Amino acid sequence: AKGERQLIGEANEIAVKFFRAMYGHERHGAVGREYVGKREISDEMMEVFGVGVSVDAWDGLAQVIAKRGWDVRGFELAGLVGRRQDGSLYDRMRHRLIFPIFDAIGRPIAFGGRKLREEDEPKYLNSPETKLFNKSRTLYGLHAAKKPIIDSRTAVIVEGYTDVIACHQAGAKNVVATLGTALTREHAGELRRYAEKVVLIFDADEAGQKAADRAAEVFLTGEIDVAIAVLPNGHDPDSLMKEEGGREKWDGFVTGAEDALSFLFSRLKEQMAGNDTVTGRERIAEGFIDRMVQMGLGKTGAIRRALVIRQMAGLLGMSEEAVGQLISA
Ligand code: ATP
Ligand code: MN
Ligand code: MN
Ligand code: MN
Repeated sequence: AKGERQLIGEANEIAVKFFRAMYGHERHGAVGREYVGKREISDEMMEVFGVGVSVDAWDGLAQVIAKRGWDVRGFELAGLVGRRQDGSLYDRMRHRLIFPIFDAIGRPIAFGGRKLREEDEPKYLNSPETKLFNKSRTLYGLHAAKKPIIDSRTAVIVEGYTDVIACHQAGAKNVVATLGTALTREHAGELRRYAEKVVLIFDADEAGQKAADRAAEVFLTGEIDVAIAVLPNGHDPDSLMKEEGGREKWDGFVTGAEDALSFLFSRLKEQMAGNDTVTGRERIAEGFIDRMVQMGLGKTGAIRRALVIRQMAGLLGMSEEAVGQLISA
């Protein structure tokens, strides 16, 4: 009998072809093609990333599965179709631009779907986690970015599907994305096989700022260098690439990205400067040290630990010894 992983894998393979076929379909693909035109995604990138479209119906895929007599279990396990109380099947991805998520060697393990209509929610719908799809380990675009990452020894991580595609289209191909989650140790572990350095480029919105703040965890616990940049004034990599001279600006942000640790300290400095009460500053400093400890500073290597302690002591106006004690407490 086929295992769960095989069933899911086969269903995903079929679904990629189905969504691609719908994209090319005169009627069903029309809205999707118009959207792709508006987003200026090239035919080549549509091909490389296997982008397709799901139809505006509850039974686009479900009907084809029934008609062709395919084994429905894989599609259910993959989260591509759901089952109603009465046993009938329905599509989970409806009327969306479909971004297949491939593993490092190009096998589809999940899907992300972007709404095509403004009023739909949520903006992005991802496959549920399955035996093939572990969200906190997966990096979108790795199948296309792996070799460029190895060649440049650097992996650039952005937030979204369209960011990855826009970068590759502009010739910046060592770019992958996390899937709406923060960078995890598993991500770092995966990338360490190919890269010495990770550069995180975040959107200029609040979500991006927060994510950048959390990303330092990887510096303290992983064995990979992490640098961080937050894009300016409302940009994300996709919008930046579409600007005049965007590619050159992009290269500047990647090269100029700040080491994760100094990035964190810059943020701490800003917060301290913005608060002129002793109690307030004390609270900020305590919060910062707590977070550092939670991130595993107590367990990090001696050299990194010493480096962090020295910077913190300078910033807080405390002795290194006192900071060291706070961290070990
Ligand atoms: P677009 O340019 O198509 O509007 P984006 O990639 O710029 O999309 P953001 O809002 O910046 O979208 O979000 C970054 C990423 O976070 C998305 O690509 C997606 O992976 C994830 N994400 C965003 N919104 C949701 C959501 N509602 N549910 C799940 N994941 C989401
Ligand atoms: Mn964003
Ligand atoms: Mn965007
Ligand atoms: Mn964005």
